[in-house]
Amino acid sequence: MRELNQRIRHLELPDRMKRLPLNSQGYPVPFFVPYVNGEPEFRGFDGEKVVICVRHKRCWLCGQPLGKFMVFVIGPMCAVNRVSAEPPSHRKCALYAVQSCPFLTQPKMRRNEKDMPEHLAPAGIMLRRNPGVTMLWTTQSYTIFKAGNGALFNVGEPVQVEFFAEGRTATRDEIMASISTGMPSLRQMAERDGAEAVAELQVQYDRAMGLVPA
Ligand SMILES: [Zn+2]
Repeated sequence: MRELNQRIRHLELPDRMKRLPLNSQGYPVPFFVPYVNGEPEFRGFDGEKVVICVRHKRCWLCGQPLGKFMVFVIGPMCAVNRVSAEPPSHRKCALYAVQSCPFLTQPKMRRNEKDMPEHLAPAGIMLRRNPGVTMLWTTQSYTIFKAGNGALFNVGEPVQVEFFAEGRTATRDEIMASISTGMPSLRQMAERDGAEAVAELQVQYDRAMGLVPA
């Protein structure tokens, strides 16, 4: 019988996540994680799981049925363009993830894409960086659109937005630093698309600023 990793043993594991297997380091393996040669590939992205979660309204993290409120775990740049590569989760599962996931709690940890099987990469143009700040975006709706050979999510109007860094509530400075370092990539993409896209990005940016705590 495997035990939870010592680093996360103090956190209360949500009931719905108790059925998840633990990896060799004692971390619960979320529902979305694909297996490569029998081992969970945490950096991976399983398109079939996206289909299951969307079609059957399941939680991306625990795989159990979702309720009325859905929580997207996204980087602050996603608050600007309101696009997520991943479907939503339960709030309790999402809260556990921002407190326990090594990638989300250790901003200095780089997203390691070495030896990443190509078919497990997410759809769309991702900003390939660790944002340092993670948002829990609670909403009652979303829409899906095609991107490449995958799908992306337009997150609906938020009913609640929470910011985390290093497993705790993020400070305004951390949030602003994360947004300002991510904006150049979005601006570059907008400039490639023309003046209208640049103007639209400004509108999106101002809208996102309204969500940042004072
Ligand atoms: Zn869940």
